[in-house]
Amino acid sequence: MRLANINQRLVIKGPQGYLDVAEASQGRFGPDPQSPLADWAAFSSWTAEFLASPEAAKTPGVSTDAATVWGPPVPRPAQIFAVGLNYRDHIAESKLEVPAEPAVFTKFRTSLTGHETAVALPDGLVDWEAELVAVIGRHCHRATRENAWSYVAGLTVGQDLSERRLQLTGPAPQFSLGKSYPGFAPLGPELVSTDEFTDPGDLELGCKLEGGEVLQKSRTSEMVFDIPELITRLSAVCPLLPGDLIFTGTPAGVGGARTPQKFLAPGDVLVTWIEGIGTLRNPMVAP
Ligand code: ZN
Repeated sequence: MRLANINQRLVIKGPQGYLDVAEASQGRFGPDPQSPLADWAAFSSWTAEFLASPEAAKTPGVSTDAATVWGPPVPRPAQIFAVGLNYRDHIAESKLEVPAEPAVFTKFRTSLTGHETAVALPDGLVDWEAELVAVIGRHCHRATRENAWSYVAGLTVGQDLSERRLQLTGPAPQFSLGKSYPGFAPLGPELVSTDEFTDPGDLELGCKLEGGEVLQKSRTSEMVFDIPELITRLSAVCPLLPGDLIFTGTPAGVGGARTPQKFLAPGDVLVTWIEGIGTLRNPMVAP
């Protein structure tokens, strides 16, 4: 199942493009893109049934064009967790040791945005971080490694945009604030349910500048703390709520670790992809 947020309405991918869920379900689900997370199991079974029905083939797809607004597939998560230093190659380029515990911070919710949405660059040094984002599908407290995947609704593509100056200024690093300017958490375009993957723990991910060089390219199997481990450790402390997001860290190739350093500039178009999920495109513009 593949969901998206088009013009602030929940859609699912059907045989003829995206289908408006509120119309197709006659008001049972949607139109709020956040709504399926309230009862993911019921939504999943309705979707499977509807997509297999002759009705799905007869329902015309929602048309999309340049004026379409792609919102984040999860627009109002209660909590957003993010993890630093979670790929071995990124730890090496940062000249740091492999951590014994995940380095956890948050991205504040107002930083969320969608596919094809311009990001206004604030003053400072804005860096890219391609990331796999896990979406929690049901209440989760004290998960085990064995049952952790059962709490995940699906996966999406994210960018953990980071203003490095603010991130590293102060008596202690301010990861949460330096990574939470408006637009600093692009997400999407689709949320893909876990049953769509042969191995959701081993996906190629990366990002590049449109018409330019590949900046990052790795596999999610290179994570130090994989998704089951992150869910186990986070939920040992905080109950995870349906719709919560976990930004799972970025591989090598960030601009701040390059010689010379390289950061985003107005006119750049950042293209981020993950195998089996999709491609997220965000133009960078002046403030
Ligand atoms: Zn990150």
